[in-house]
Amino acid sequence: MADVNKIWKEALSLIEANPDIPTVSYDVWIKNLEPYCIDSGEFILVASSTMTKNIATDNYLAKIYEALKTVYPMVLGAVIITEDEKEKYKSSTVASQKEQENPAHDGLNIVARFTFDNYVVGPNNQFVHAAARAVAENPGNKYNPLFIYGGVGLGKTHLMHAIGNYVKQERPNYRVLYVSADYFVNELVDTIRNSQDREQNRTFRDKYRKADVLMIDDVQGIVGRAGTQEAMFHIFNDLFQNGKQIIMTSDRPPKEFDKIEERLKTRFEWGLIADISAPDIETRIAILQKKAEQDDNYVPGDVLRFIASKVESNIREMEGLYLKVVFYSELIGKDISMETAREALKDYIDESTYTVDVDAIIDTTCDFFNVKREALCGKSRAKEIAEPRMICMYLICDMLDIPLTAIGEAIGGRDHTTVIHARDKIENLIKKDEKKKTQVKDLKDRILKR
Ligand code: ADP
Ligand code: MG
Repeated sequence: MADVNKIWKEALSLIEANPDIPTVSYDVWIKNLEPYCIDSGEFILVASSTMTKNIATDNYLAKIYEALKTVYPMVLGAVIITEDEKEKYKSSTVASQKEQENPAHDGLNIVARFTFDNYVVGPNNQFVHAAARAVAENPGNKYNPLFIYGGVGLGKTHLMHAIGNYVKQERPNYRVLYVSADYFVNELVDTIRNSQDREQNRTFRDKYRKADVLMIDDVQGIVGRAGTQEAMFHIFNDLFQNGKQIIMTSDRPPKEFDKIEERLKTRFEWGLIADISAPDIETRIAILQKKAEQDDNYVPGDVLRFIASKVESNIREMEGLYLKVVFYSELIGKDISMETAREALKDYIDESTYTVDVDAIIDTTCDFFNVKREALCGKSRAKEIAEPRMICMYLICDMLDIPLTAIGEAIGGRDHTTVIHARDKIENLIKKDEKKKTQVKDLKDRILKR
């Protein structure tokens, strides 16, 4: 049974140990939150005042969620509420017990608020949205598997749950099962390890076999895990043959998967592969507008545009900024305006300009390739150092608008022609080599996430 107190206690110790969270903040804003229940997969915490709720949500929710997910991977989100909001959420006992023991049960871990109704369609996701609708209306018959890929925070999980919610509503007797890829593989590995245990084997097989719709989120990290591909292939085969719908999400298309068996890759590619790209500014504004309507907040158009212009793609991050603006205005008791928005986001702007600089790119590159900074900036021509060095120069050119001479200077006093050579070389390399391209993209993502 999912014991929310126990999960929270363990999560707290992780949060306390997190060097990014000052001890004072931990003591004042986090330690006294009360775990309440798990509702539709979201972990609900109760704050003693609206101010605590707002400040904790605004500043620490992402870290709290991270910790909770580490302790209990079935958690799909975290929400901080006040006492008087409690009745909106179910109490933990029955629902979460079922949920943990058998997530297949009633699609209990489908997040109710991720629906088609509140999914904004724009040029970036039109195609994948149409495919998702088709699958929702006709699971198992249309595109199978449906493989959705795209960057962080672009709405993959939302779309997947939208399908789940739709199927649950239209076909109440269908079993809809949502699992994170990590959870799925851990369970699979467990079952393989205890392969003599017939009971466990059967439970596992039944659980996945009985699903009419199986959704596996974020498969990129797991497909290559040794020893699981064979089993995974058979589970998928089984489900396909029985007309069951499989939906997967990933941050990249199957063809960019390393270390995956050809037949499994081919399986993934059998159905429909659709990508979500970054939304343009008008779509981002429409998403914010919808959110504001749902929350019953009046946010003037220029403020929506201002918030939307602060992020390039990640919608989750954009929603975070929106919440900052809303909470700040509440806190100082003023209507939301350009003035309150600017004030609320002033730190964010500073942060984003300084986090990615030359040093950040060099450090992250060194980390990524496990090369010392002195080596990267040094003279060695060994491939395992020279290539990271060139990639580093390429990324500085790509991500920052600074003169080539300054880049050469930062990488151990090199000439600007060396920078040009490195940039062009990597540019060509990633055109030809898919694996390199993915590697450079992963590194870039890591730099952006710092
Ligand atoms: P991903 O799984 O791709 O990382 P999520 O599905 O978790 O992204 O989406 C992140 C947040 O952005 C969620 O709160 C989601 O509701 C919101 N979101 C993303 N795309 C859209 C969209 N097109 N319309 C409305 N909300 C969206
Ligand atoms: Mg996701």
